[in-house]
Amino acid sequence: MAILPILAHPDPRLRESAQPVAIFDEDLARLVDDLSETLRVSGGIGLAAPQTGDRRQVLVIDLSGGESPPEVYINPEIHPGSTQCLVEESCLSVPGVVGNVVRAISVRVSAQDTLGTPFERELEGMPAVCLQHEVDHLQGTLFIDRLPLLQRLRLRLRRGWSATGTAAAT
Ligand code: ZN
Repeated sequence: MAILPILAHPDPRLRESAQPVAIFDEDLARLVDDLSETLRVSGGIGLAAPQTGDRRQVLVIDLSGGESPPEVYINPEIHPGSTQCLVEESCLSVPGVVGNVVRAISVRVSAQDTLGTPFERELEGMPAVCLQHEVDHLQGTLFIDRLPLLQRLRLRLRRGWSATGTAAAT
């Protein structure tokens, strides 16, 4: 296992869309192991492959504080529920920034595991919020894109980020 360097905003690679995984081989298993180890060492709760410069649709989530192995989602597709909440988020790729983001409280997710076996799951609360944050990474979106406009402008001014860095607001 290796600890991968985590890219930091405004690295343009964080803005690229990840590609679906078609080959479930040893190389993919190694990526999952490395992401898991990197997540454990970083103390975060979720990590997506594009945050390490790998463009595959792979993410890991661990809300157990390292007590159990991370959940692995490959090629995830999410269907958010209609009830939303305001959640305080931060991101390993945007160090030092915390902000409130609107997220669905629950999601239904279909994905594949490391062997390519499809599964479906219903998530609620923090796991659901965390998954939405990580799936955003697979699409080149950062949580700061979802902050209110005024907050985004303030961050840009304070941190000297260019306009393109946060232009992909959704
Ligand atoms: Zn993040």
